[in-house]
Amino acid sequence: MTGKTDRRTMFKLAGGAAMALTAPQIMVRAASAQIATASEVANPGFHNFKLGDFRVTTILDGGRPSDGPHPIFGENQEATAVAELMEANFLPSDQFVNGFAPVIIDTGAEKILFDTGLGEGARANGLGQLRERMQAAGHQPDEIDVVVLTHFHGDHIGGLMEGGEPAFANARYVTGQVEYDFWTAPERAEGQTADAAQAVASNVVPLAENMTFLADGDEVVSGISAVAAFGHSPGHMAFSVESGGRRLMLVADAANHYVASLMRPDWHVRFDMDKEMATETRMRLFDMIATDRIPFIGYHMPFPAVGFVEKIEPGYRYVPATYQFDL
Ligand SMILES: [Zn+2]
Repeated sequence: MTGKTDRRTMFKLAGGAAMALTAPQIMVRAASAQIATASEVANPGFHNFKLGDFRVTTILDGGRPSDGPHPIFGENQEATAVAELMEANFLPSDQFVNGFAPVIIDTGAEKILFDTGLGEGARANGLGQLRERMQAAGHQPDEIDVVVLTHFHGDHIGGLMEGGEPAFANARYVTGQVEYDFWTAPERAEGQTADAAQAVASNVVPLAENMTFLADGDEVVSGISAVAAFGHSPGHMAFSVESGGRRLMLVADAANHYVASLMRPDWHVRFDMDKEMATETRMRLFDMIATDRIPFIGYHMPFPAVGFVEKIEPGYRYVPATYQFDL
């Protein structure tokens, strides 16, 4: 049977039903072509919710597709083990998308920005969208009172400067003492850390006179305090947020893939500078988040980057937040 006969026979057999199927298929195709553009408008890249008296906004600085997750995630595992976990979770095994989600917390008294995205240098690649999208969300850059830096990797400090000037003109800055001391030590200027140290020298050091340095437990403002979460970087900080009896953890980069890092927290991650310490930190933070049943925001969690975890050995199951904050 030729293809032609095949189709004719099919058409005869199916009769009107074949037509009924064809028309919606054409419509779906036409609609999805429109949706590709319309969704850019419909999804402006920010997400608001209330936490007690605080208003929290997560902003999508951008999403970057790349090869992986193996060996970036599960560096000490066989590629097949990582592929199996991805497939079991309905994810492709050879590509993944890494998102970047800075956060603004409006306490009513101050607007506090946590991390700054990849900045102007990444804009040509569709990243570095924080500045535009925070304005769409109703936050002007010069209204930011405090910029908190969880750590000094490029995707967190890239947006500090804009055209050679501070991007948040009226802000003071807060970061961990250990992180600042590590990246500004003279020996970082050479070898593997040279590029990252150069970025710190251009983007962070010029702001240092207006910077407060925190240790574990120190407050940023009333209701927001630092939690030492070392490992991903030497002085990486998470933040505990509490308002009106509601709690939230900002874990920054304590877990960087919602399946690989959470379901297998002991798998080594290339981005973690101290793999073992990062694993210990990941398990300490997420054990607490699971036990206390509190929400968290992860900088690299799937946007809008807010969810919960259920403890399931040997790790945790990510549960994206839905309407919990609306009630
Ligand atoms: Zn990061």
